[in-house]
Amino acid sequence: MAKPDTLPQPNGSFRWVQVGGRPALVCRALEELAPHLFTTRHWPLGASRTGDRTEAWDDLAQQMRIEPDRLVRVRQVHRADVAVRRKDDRIPPDPPQADIIISNDPVAALVVQAADCVPLLIADRRTGSVAAAHAGWRGLAAGVPRVTVEALEREFGSRPADLAVAAGPSIGACCYEVSADVRRHFEAAGFHGADLARWFHTRPQPTATNPSLPGLPPTPRAEHWYFDCWAAVRDGLAAAGVPRDQIFVAELCTASHPGALCSYRRDGAPAGRMAATIRKVKVKT
Ligand SMILES: [Zn+2]
Repeated sequence: MAKPDTLPQPNGSFRWVQVGGRPALVCRALEELAPHLFTTRHWPLGASRTGDRTEAWDDLAQQMRIEPDRLVRVRQVHRADVAVRRKDDRIPPDPPQADIIISNDPVAALVVQAADCVPLLIADRRTGSVAAAHAGWRGLAAGVPRVTVEALEREFGSRPADLAVAAGPSIGACCYEVSADVRRHFEAAGFHGADLARWFHTRPQPTATNPSLPGLPPTPRAEHWYFDCWAAVRDGLAAAGVPRDQIFVAELCTASHPGALCSYRRDGAPAGRMAATIRKVKVKT
């Protein structure tokens, strides 16, 4: 098991914790509002051989201190459909098809899984409602950040100014080479030139924390871009009215950190998955 001092250093808005003896990431601002976790490769779900097994999900439920049948899962399909879980709702026999879950149920924990895509967790400091969402480039082009905020407003009376959002580990512009079709997809979805100029780079954008994958082409390929999911998430949430100082991005690239994080781009089909999970707590009135 990795010791905390071997884990990559997230943005200062996050910190590593040990949960059941394994490392997980939490967002300092969300900690005050709602129990939540971003798991790592060290969890059962992060191992490809055990990732799809019931035990991996039961383990997660146990760490979130809920019964296993109170873990609200979805079948993720890289779109922007919303599953709404209300207090006292019956539990559906099968997970619905959705990439966004919103809830005001204090005895449920919402969970999405990812291995490069951006996992988003949201807490409403006024109503206590929560959301979990999953967005890769397809989800971002479909407007997942905006759709999630609008769903919280519509279903639970949230105000964007009361939301705090944590974006967990996901592939960064250090590693995420995409084809020109991806950019064209955003253009067709109505995103403007200024946004696209911030999100699509002609060269990889490594940092001291997030080195580029060794396998990247030595020189940038024609008709390809390096996509910055993190900028797209920040801008999408801000456009939906969430104050920028309440948007927290871990800035840890999944592909850059094989020791701690799962990456489909790096490892292909054998990659494990990481969970992002959150539950509501009672809001003091
Ligand atoms: Zn990277």
